[in-house]
Amino acid sequence: QSPSPPDYIARLNPEQRAAVEALDGPLLVLAGAGTGKTRVLTTRFAHLLMTGRAKPWEVLSVTFTNKASREMRERVSAILGRPVEGLWLGTFHALCARMLRRHAALVGLQTNFTILDADDQLRLLKQVMEAARIDAKRWPPQGTMGVIQRWKDRGLTPERVTAAEDTDWAGGAARGLYRDYQRRLVELNAADFGDLLLHVTEILRTHPDVLAEYHRGFRYILVDEYQDTNLVQYLWLRLLAQSHKNICCVGDDDQSIYSWRGAEIENILRFEKDFAGAKIVRLESNYRSTAPILAAASGLIAHNTGRLGKTLRSGLANAEGERVHVVSLWDSEEEARMVGSRIEEARRNGTSLAEIAVLVRAGFQTRAFEERMIALGIPYRVVGGAKFYERAEIRDAMAYLRVLNQPADDLAFERIVNTPKRGLGDTAMRAMQAIAREQRLPLSSAAQIMVEGSDTLRGKARSALTELMHGFARWRAALDSEGHVVVAATLLDESGYTDMWKQDRSPEAPGRLENLKELLRAMAEFQTLAGFLDHVALVMDNDADPDAARVSLMTLHAAKGLEFDMVFLPGWEEGLFPSQRSLDEGGEKALEEERRLAYVGITRARRVAVISHAANRRIYANWTNSIPSRFIDELPEDHIQRAGAAAQERARMINAPSVFAGGGLMARRPRVIEPGAWEVKERPSAGGFTAGERVFHQKFGYGRILRVDDDKLDIAFEKSGEKRLLDRFVEKA
Ligand code: ATP
Ligand code: MG
Repeated sequence: QSPSPPDYIARLNPEQRAAVEALDGPLLVLAGAGTGKTRVLTTRFAHLLMTGRAKPWEVLSVTFTNKASREMRERVSAILGRPVEGLWLGTFHALCARMLRRHAALVGLQTNFTILDADDQLRLLKQVMEAARIDAKRWPPQGTMGVIQRWKDRGLTPERVTAAEDTDWAGGAARGLYRDYQRRLVELNAADFGDLLLHVTEILRTHPDVLAEYHRGFRYILVDEYQDTNLVQYLWLRLLAQSHKNICCVGDDDQSIYSWRGAEIENILRFEKDFAGAKIVRLESNYRSTAPILAAASGLIAHNTGRLGKTLRSGLANAEGERVHVVSLWDSEEEARMVGSRIEEARRNGTSLAEIAVLVRAGFQTRAFEERMIALGIPYRVVGGAKFYERAEIRDAMAYLRVLNQPADDLAFERIVNTPKRGLGDTAMRAMQAIAREQRLPLSSAAQIMVEGSDTLRGKARSALTELMHGFARWRAALDSEGHVVVAATLLDESGYTDMWKQDRSPEAPGRLENLKELLRAMAEFQTLAGFLDHVALVMDNDADPDAARVSLMTLHAAKGLEFDMVFLPGWEEGLFPSQRSLDEGGEKALEEERRLAYVGITRARRVAVISHAANRRIYANWTNSIPSRFIDELPEDHIQRAGAAAQERARMINAPSVFAGGGLMARRPRVIEPGAWEVKERPSAGGFTAGERVFHQKFGYGRILRVDDDKLDIAFEKSGEKRLLDRFVEKA
């Protein structure tokens, strides 16, 4: 034992040091947020190299994101004082892709196999289902994909899916479809994302020689964010660690937030069972957050049952600090203003923008804060996703709105003419462009000519274009009387655009639909369509100095493992956070996962945490009132500081039965209704329609009126489901 340890070890507390120095044998570090788990892992890596126990390529390290991998590489290099090369460091998927390329032949693939994206996967599965004559209407391919992915998450190849594991999806055909789908993938020399882990695990299971080679190669294994591994990832780790058992996993059961992607918290319990004699180290000092922040987070998570349980105290020399702020605001706009001005104030007081984050529950929520940052000239970035107005579905919707406003906008017209697909492919477009060129007209005028006179276009394409052009005429005519928000909602529905995403079962689709709703809310903040379009054009054009420090905007999920001096946690309202989906599911389980997410959020903050909620939020052009999140009530009162109660009081008074009845679209009429529902009234519409009446619509066919709201009707169509339409587009049947 050297009397003075190297300073990278001297910087650790005794428990951390024990976790770093116990290099051999299985080790589980189970500890709360900010206790230095990631630091222990990084230091352990450096220590393995410094002591000569392992060469850089003999350590296999798994992180949850690519960003975390980069950081680990940098920190290890910093400790070693030189760059490190040849590491097996990455996410599960990245590491498995690399391994699979080496052994592709063992599962019938070639080294240069393609990794399919979600679209390609689905297209392939559709073909497989068609060939098997499975009714895709009854059993949507997306559902089948879900079943297959869950099997893959659990390490089940088609052969391993026993009758007991089978489901009655597709009338019991799912297992066969899975087998056919895997065969087709091999024929195409392709693998989907789930295959990366599945194939490698299968190879390790069935080829002892390959496994032995990796056992010789990887002498040490390091795993961060262990609580979010799924079963196949666990099996993969167990196989690789089997012989030397030098595996160190760090995690926190209170931060398990990916059960929806198959993560299994039970893997923590399995570890102790499978690796008999595993050392368990608990770290109890938090070095990230001030005492009040820590106390607030601990008080909140204490409401979860079934925790492994742990102590967490502050390890900071000076842990004093501001209490967690809980700010009640009148409405969502005031909330965005509050966040903006507090960021400006912090900046004036010397906080770097890189040390500030705004963490939201759902992606669409970044919009309001982005606009505020732009208005104030605060550089920002959206981590783990695109900026709001750069998201594909928003660009599509904006293109529709641009054509609505300005028919000669060719770029916009080109973008939407065949989105969603309506049979206006290359041939139709070439014909349209030819007319436009010859007659020096914008594309939309050329389209009009094709619809009215020329016979260049026939059949389905012709009727699709006719319908689109009639649609635009109708929507444009309605702008003055109905207002741009209602027309935009109608347009997105009637053009089939919203439906395109409703029918899409990819995991991103619900988020895209939420973004579209958010777009309508954004429009409602402007008096005219043109005013809104100008605003967005300016917003898009505003890109500050690329090297400037930036505020980070991201979802709570994307914030795992990160830390900032100042963290804003807006939108803590029932139905938003906890999410409506978790409330609808009703179970404690879903709610506990939301609570863990709240715990992750608060524990990202070093010095300042600001939780907020608004009493009123826009639903399209109307306002609804929202209730503060139950998580706010669960925070220990001693550690929080409330502000803005006056606004709350005001909200309570005004929400007494409708003093605000009537008024135009822009009027604020707070009212208790379900989030996401439309505000409704039960009296005949302007056009004399009443609920229960049977009606006819050109595109959607026959239906019955469910609700009447002024001149807007909610109609259940017999063929096309529920829609909201203006009554002037509907006839009595
Ligand atoms: P999370 O659960 O959020 O992933 P974690 O347990 O991985 O957190 P780290 O990110 O490793 O925690 O550490 C939190 C912060 O505390 C970091 O800024 C780290 O540098 C610091 N830290 C960790 N251990 C010590 C220590 N012994 N002395 C001083 N600072 C420390
Ligand atoms: Mg960490």
